[in-house]
Amino acid sequence: MDLGIKGKTAIVCAASKGLGRGCAEALAEAGVNLVINARTESTLIEAAEAIAAKYGVSVTPVACDITTAEGQAMVLAACPDPDILVNNAGGPPPGMWSDWERDDFIKALDANMLTPIALMKAVLPSMMEKGWGRIVNITSISVKSPVAVLGLSNSARAGLTGYVGGTSRQVAHSGVTINNLLPGTHDTDRISNLDKSVSEQQNRPLEEVMAERRAEIPTGLYGSPADFGATCAFMCSQHARFMVGQNILLDGGAVNTTM
Ligand code: NAP
Repeated sequence: MDLGIKGKTAIVCAASKGLGRGCAEALAEAGVNLVINARTESTLIEAAEAIAAKYGVSVTPVACDITTAEGQAMVLAACPDPDILVNNAGGPPPGMWSDWERDDFIKALDANMLTPIALMKAVLPSMMEKGWGRIVNITSISVKSPVAVLGLSNSARAGLTGYVGGTSRQVAHSGVTINNLLPGTHDTDRISNLDKSVSEQQNRPLEEVMAERRAEIPTGLYGSPADFGATCAFMCSQHARFMVGQNILLDGGAVNTTM
């Protein structure tokens, strides 16, 4: 399917690896020029060079922490009026309700709620003026079905979801859509680190821990960054102009609900 976005420009945050990288690759395959971001310069440059060589689009790497005001300014300076924005950042650490203090919540809110809001606020005026824009926020399955140990994530992402619910409807008349894409378990470094830490803590073989997690997913498989990226690229396409304020769950059926 021709996504109809060849020649457009996208900012993809936190995109040297994992789900952000999957989104960057799928947009590049559709002919979109990219500004990609991550904190580690070496892996970011490697990713930018590999994507540019594979898909023949321009890929500008901006190495910075997207959760800081300085990082956001650097990315926006490299691409002040993108057609497409994919918001992403690392997720907060796991823990117990009794562990988390005000500062832990402020960090989580900064990373997973206030950073995407700041970037949306910065790019919306030019998208609205052009009469076209696509914004996808990478959130989490935890928005639909709380993951108890990820209370910081559950809280911050719920806040972002509420903001998108209202804001997407305020801007839709101008041809700009904002939606959220909710990953269930995908095969990325984050999940493999979580699996390794469960295996070490419980002194069980890694393969057994992974098999147990796979068994909780009706597909019997983890998703891949490519699966995730393809869905994101569709949400950024011409064909998705009627999709507004939605929370698209990509979880292999793991959340057991009818709607
Ligand atoms: P990942 O494989 O660990 O990749 C994270 C990417 O983000 C890397 O490129 C990393 O590069 C970059 N990054 C992290 N923090 C950053 C920051 N502050 N500023 C700029 N770049 C940053 O993680 P992932 O699995 O793709 O997860 C992406 C998001 O989806 C996370 O918020 C995660 O909680 C959420 N999520 C993932 C899953 C899943 O199954 N994978 C499920 C639910 C939710 P540097 O480290 O070099 O910065």
